[in-house]
Amino acid sequence: MARPLYAQVNLAALTANVARVRACAPKTQLLAVVKANAYGHGLARVLPALADADGLALVELDAAIGLRAGHYTRRILLLEGFFATDELKEISAKRLGVVVHHADQVRMLETAHLDRPLEVFLKINTGMNRLGVSPADVSLLVERLNHCDSVAALRLMTHLARAEDDDGVNDQIAAFERACKGLPYPRSIANSAGVVRYKEVGGDIVRPGIMLYGATPFPYDTAEMIGVQPVMTLRSEIIAVQDLKPNDSVGYGATYTASRAHRIGVVACGYADGYPRHAPNGTPVLVCGKKARTAGRVSMDMLMVDVTEVPEATIGSPVVLWGEGLPVDDVASAASTVGYELLCAVTPRVPIVTTQVGHIDLEL
Ligand SMILES: *Cc1c(COP(=O)(O)O)cnc(C)c1O
Repeated sequence: MARPLYAQVNLAALTANVARVRACAPKTQLLAVVKANAYGHGLARVLPALADADGLALVELDAAIGLRAGHYTRRILLLEGFFATDELKEISAKRLGVVVHHADQVRMLETAHLDRPLEVFLKINTGMNRLGVSPADVSLLVERLNHCDSVAALRLMTHLARAEDDDGVNDQIAAFERACKGLPYPRSIANSAGVVRYKEVGGDIVRPGIMLYGATPFPYDTAEMIGVQPVMTLRSEIIAVQDLKPNDSVGYGATYTASRAHRIGVVACGYADGYPRHAPNGTPVLVCGKKARTAGRVSMDMLMVDVTEVPEATIGSPVVLWGEGLPVDDVASAASTVGYELLCAVTPRVPIVTTQVGHIDLEL
């Protein structure tokens, strides 16, 4: 018997979430964002469920090369582009598309001699102030890229900083429209929040990430409200039970003290597995399918749960840390973070089990 902790990845849910993206943003091209090892789900494992996407987008060149080695033939976009000229040969040989967000990258393309020119997404800074060229420089850079032998096809792109706010897209969309006025190239604007709000945001190529994995980009609209299903369920078991008397405390630093008699279940999952150490007392956990709460500090390999209200809980009882029955966003909000961070943070020590409908495939 192995340590009873694994991340179950439900490919049928992922396929359904891709269909949800298609329904929100019909007639667009869909680049599924798979950076950070498909948001922690395992890039190679999720590919079959992304068969309906027109391509993939990620930041890691080595992962993109791995996709080509695995005979992935559709488009692949590098979201941070390239960092030095010496990467361009490989990028061209592997038919990868690049984001260009800085004039220096334009210069590198101009001086490169590539066997095969690239698909280039010119990224425009419309207010996020992270990556992107200034709107004032767009026409000149477009002109240069247009005449550059390294460029096969040009697209215009921006990234939304606060698509989750009611008026959060208007200024950026207006700035993007002004910067792109009259330029006849396909446009890419929407992340997940933009896909859900596609009618306002628009664009020809969408780049959803988090919603594919069944979590929400919004602070108030839940995954269920935006019509997506959890893909990863982090499962474990109770491996010990402690009966506490009033005033007994739990865990390192004794940050939790029982005011009454209490039953505590010990779960085989800790911060070395990616569960957030900063999750406070009271973070939700499912034990035997019932909502329970963490008690005491999360330790490296274990966390403790108050199971007083789950009398059937005993050694071997099933635990869901997040996923089916407990949205990752609920755990994230209790721990003052976002579902994105929790999903990406699951560590390699946690085996991933892929499920198809009616079929379990253990890949360790
Ligand atoms: C990560 C990323 C996305 C996907 O964002 P989600 O909020 O996960 O949908 C889209 N575009 C770019 C440029 C990104 O870096």
